[in-house]
Parts: sequence; C-alpha cells; structure tokens
Amino acid sequence: MPRIVHIIGAGLAGLAAAVELTTRGQTVVVHEATNSAGGRCRSYYDNSVGMTIDNGNHLLLSGNRAALAYARTIGAADRLIGPPHAEFAFFDFAAREKWTLRFNDGRVPWWIFDPRRRVPGTHALDYFSIARLLWAPRDHAVGEVIRFSGTLYERLLRPLLLAALNIDPAAGSAALAGAVIRETIAMGGRACRPLIARNGLGSTLIDPALDFLDERDARVLFGHQLHGVRLEQDRIAALDFGKDSINLTGDDAVILAVPPYVTASLVPGIETPSEFRAIVNAHFRVDPPNQLPPMLGVINATTEWVFAFPGRISVTISAGDRLIDTPRDALAQSIWREVAAIAGLGSDMPRWQIVRERRATFAATPEQDARRPGPRTRYRNLVLAGDWTNTGLPATIESAIRSGHRAAQIVGQS
Ligand SMILES: Cc1cc2nc3c(=O)[nH]c(=O)nc-3n(C[C@H](O)[C@H](O)[C@H](O)COP(=O)(O)OP(=O)(O)OC[C@H]3O[C@@H](n4cnc5c(N)ncnc54)[C@H](O)[C@@H]3O)c2cc1C
Repeated sequence: MPRIVHIIGAGLAGLAAAVELTTRGQTVVVHEATNSAGGRCRSYYDNSVGMTIDNGNHLLLSGNRAALAYARTIGAADRLIGPPHAEFAFFDFAAREKWTLRFNDGRVPWWIFDPRRRVPGTHALDYFSIARLLWAPRDHAVGEVIRFSGTLYERLLRPLLLAALNIDPAAGSAALAGAVIRETIAMGGRACRPLIARNGLGSTLIDPALDFLDERDARVLFGHQLHGVRLEQDRIAALDFGKDSINLTGDDAVILAVPPYVTASLVPGIETPSEFRAIVNAHFRVDPPNQLPPMLGVINATTEWVFAFPGRISVTISAGDRLIDTPRDALAQSIWREVAAIAGLGSDMPRWQIVRERRATFAATPEQDARRPGPRTRYRNLVLAGDWTNTGLPATIESAIRSGHRAAQIVGQS
C-alpha cells in the first residue's frame, strides 16, 4: 500500500498542505467536516443580497510570499487584483478629510519625507518610532513599545495594526506587529500593494485548489468530520469519523489543520490559544459609484474598511466583539448611514447581509501568542497546521498557508 497523508480540514492551511504534497507526488486524502472548502475564507450564495458573497473581505499584500506562491501554483495569481503601486485611500469620517497614502516602490522610505505621500498632519520624524516594533520583546504589547496616540497612530498605525492583528492594537502583541511591519512596510512599496480577490475568495483561492487536487487524483471528502483519534504510544493508530474509521498503517501520516479549539478537543495535551476576536462584515447590494476607490480605510467611524465590488459594497470591522449582540437590523442601518455618507449614496438601504464571525482569529495578545504550538507533536505521525500555530505571524491567510507548507515539508521528509 502506498503511504497516505490524511489532511483534516479544508481551510487554507489544509489546502496549502494538500497542494504542496500532491505536487511532490504524495497520496493525499482531505477530510472536511462541512460541505464546502475554505473554512474562514469562503464564498457562498446569500439569499438576502441575492448574489454570491464572501464571508468577509480578505486583503492580501504583495509581500505575502507564501500566499502568492500558493496562488501561482493553483494557477490563480492573476485573480488577485491590485494597483500597480502601493496606495491606500483613507477618509476621516469626523473631519470629512480624504487622503491617499503612497509608498514608493523601493526599500528606502522616501515617501515619509513627501507631504503629498505621507499621512496629513504627520512629520517624517514621527515614522521612525515604528522601527521600535521591529525589535520588540515577545512578551510586550504594542502599547508598551510605541505611543498609542497622536496623528500617526490614529491615522496609520491603528487602522493598519487593527486590520492585521484583529485586536485593539495597544493590547496586541508587539512581536506580531513587528513581523507584519518587517514583511511589508520595511520591505518597501513593492511588498505593500493591496491585493483583493475581486471576483470572490472561492473562485480565487479555493476552487482552483480543489481543481488542482482533483486533476492529481487527491480526494477531498466533504461532510467527513473527524470525531476522535485512537492514540497508541507515540503514534495515531486510527481516525474516527463516527460513521466510519480509518486505521493508519505503515508510515501513513496526519496533518491536523482545524481550528485550535477543535485540535484541543481531539488530541489531549496540546496547548492552543484559547481567546478569540470577532470580525463583522456588512454587505450591501448596490453599484459602487465611480468615485469610490476599490478599498477605502475609514477612521473615526464604526466602519473601518469599505470595499467596492461589482454590484456590491462591503464593509469590514475588525475586533468587532462589541457589535456581536447589536440587533442585525440596527447594525446594518448604522453602517449603511456611514457608507451612504462616504460614497455619496441615498439614505434608502439596499438589500443587505451582516456576517459576524465570532471566532475569526485568536486574540493576538502576547499571552495568547505564547500558547501557539509548533507543528510537531509527541505523536510521530501527527503534524499541526493552521493560522494559529506558531508561524510568527498574526492569524492571516499568509500564516495559514505558511503553516500548511511547513506541515507538508515535515511530512514529506518523514
Ligand atoms: C471575516 C474574516 C475576515 C478576515 N480577513 C482577513 C484578511 O483580510 N486577510 C487575511 O490575511 N486574513 C483574514 N482573515 C483570516 C483568514 O481567513 C484565516 O487566517 C484563514 O482562513 C485560516 O485558515 P485555516 O485553514 O488556518 O483555518 P480554517 O479556515 O478555520 O479551516 C479549518 C477547517 O477545518 C474544518 N474542520 C473543523 N473541525 C473539523 C473536524 N473535526 N473534521 C474535519 N474538518 C474540520 C473547518 O470546517 C474548516 O474548513 C479573516 C478571517 C475572517 C473570519
């Protein structure tokens, strides 16, 4: 019997591992609990808006090298759309002021010396404080390393770090913030181009991966939830799916690419992050006006990012736990009022949907970051993957895909 690698979970971590192992000629079976792939990064047909939408708007940056490599491998790199240079449009809702942050392409950040490129109301010297995050100790919060007030913080660092860490930045891990800055801003504008799956996450990052696996005879079993594992000394001996079970033979291996709370419930003795933060998305079925940029950062409002898609405007609110219990109608109305004012639209709310992902990411505090395990476990045929494993990055697509590649590499060597 050829060796089989069982991958549990068809989120991006599991898919990235499957794609990588299949490329190396390994036999792979992916087991997914639900009836679709993508996990927290998925598209679905929504009856309320009457169109296919994403569970949440997802932004990649051109410096996300593992994510881009994955997109190239599955033949979807051209579906990630962004401007030729790193530009970010912003709007201060309170001051009714607009600006566009424009990085220069190279690593020397001369954009900070140009008032037409940097944040209005800031000075070049302000930006030097960002470098402190690059060498921050692992147990420090952002608020212990840089000043979390002032124009640069409110207009650049806060929105950037809130989106990247999905937590109030002052409480967020300075080391994770430093990692984001090291791989993006510190690399220059070429690493900061915003990239969006303009035609949907499913058709960009998920379906092409499923096609890739199908063409290489890797099986993906939907509705196949792992209920438990049979442990035998230093290995996993069997996978229990309730209706059926699989005995592992020879050097069969398992990559567990499920959320941290599922991992902890399936395998005893693995420490995982245990606190989470929500992300709220609002989707409105309306044609975005021409003057609305594809992506707009908003400060001093509930709305944080506005995305213009064909036939739809979508809003993202990070660390949205405070909005979890707000009645859906009232939340949609209040977000729409802001969107209408920003985009110059009438007050009649179009068809809408609110998607609240309660456990969108682990809480990126220094304490929770310290609970992230590495990929190897005490079981020689079990490897962990997922955006929450210790990739050194916050819980992002890049972290999920890197963890999947790492798990595939470990399994491929064993
Ligand atoms: C609303 C929202 C917005 C986001 N925005 C961004 C963004 O702008 N940029 C960015 O980089 N990241 C963003 N993220 C984070 C990104 O989506 C995640 O980091 C990434 O999708 C995590 O992938 P994963 O494979 O690690 O986990 P998951 O996507 O959680 O995948 C785990 C999979 O395992 C399956 N599963 C669970 N239990 C079992 C079981 N017992 N048996 C079998 N299968 C099981 C699940 O159904 C799921 O398919 C966002 C997340 C959310 C929710």
